[in-house]
Amino acid sequence: MDVTTETPVENILKNKGLPEGIWTQCKECEQLFLQKDFEENFMVCPKCGYYTRVDPKKRIEFTVDKGSFKEMDSGLTSVDFLNFPGYADKLKKISKPFLKDAIITGEAKVSGYNVIIGVMDFSFMGGSMGSVVGEKIVRAVERAIKKKCSLIIISSSGGARIQEGILSLMQMGKTNAALAKFADNGLAYISVLTDPTTGGVAAGYAMLGDVNIAEPGALVGFAGPRVIEQTIRQKLPEGFQLSEFLEKHGMIDSVVERKNMKDALTKVLKFFVKK
Ligand SMILES: [Zn+2]
Repeated sequence: MDVTTETPVENILKNKGLPEGIWTQCKECEQLFLQKDFEENFMVCPKCGYYTRVDPKKRIEFTVDKGSFKEMDSGLTSVDFLNFPGYADKLKKISKPFLKDAIITGEAKVSGYNVIIGVMDFSFMGGSMGSVVGEKIVRAVERAIKKKCSLIIISSSGGARIQEGILSLMQMGKTNAALAKFADNGLAYISVLTDPTTGGVAAGYAMLGDVNIAEPGALVGFAGPRVIEQTIRQKLPEGFQLSEFLEKHGMIDSVVERKNMKDALTKVLKFFVKK
């Protein structure tokens, strides 16, 4: 999946020779904002309320105590073991120093509570779950068991990574088995679902939290609505697969605004963990 990262405003600024990174534009209502003001509003549009997707670096900044994040397993990179056409080149092209695959994991503190946290990035091949994503999650779970601390995974994914075939699907079983072991240890796993969380990730670890919290308006589901409509030959209800609908029907525990997410996580940690 190709993701366009350049917004119209970046084009305008480039053409006018103005510095980038000062202004930003809402992708929904196209209103211009100072980048600083937009980030202070957790990258939610102050005008129309649109939730801009957040990269893992920013998400970590929004979620954990300042300076507490220590990345783990940053050296793991995907391998094109199936010789899938174009995969090796694509990996080379999109790999960034801070993001070598679709998830970042590490140790951190949330309001003083020790946690292991994983944050997915949709801009890296649609946040798809390949071998590296699965391996990093399993290592994160094992570290949390060893340190007897809680686990937070913030998901954003289109599902399995087709370029890794069956080994991508295998990550579902592998991560689920690790989480079952984690649950046997009586530790707390909080899953945060952001837009979009679909496919094998939604059908796996993203829905297995002791508490599952979603951002407002997030698309969460296994198959897309068109595929379901064609399969069951029925019209789907309004808002189907959006987080509010899922909360109403008991599929997730709560819908929490981004600005309140750290407080919500703190409350859950306080409930589960003796400090
Ligand atoms: Zn807007």
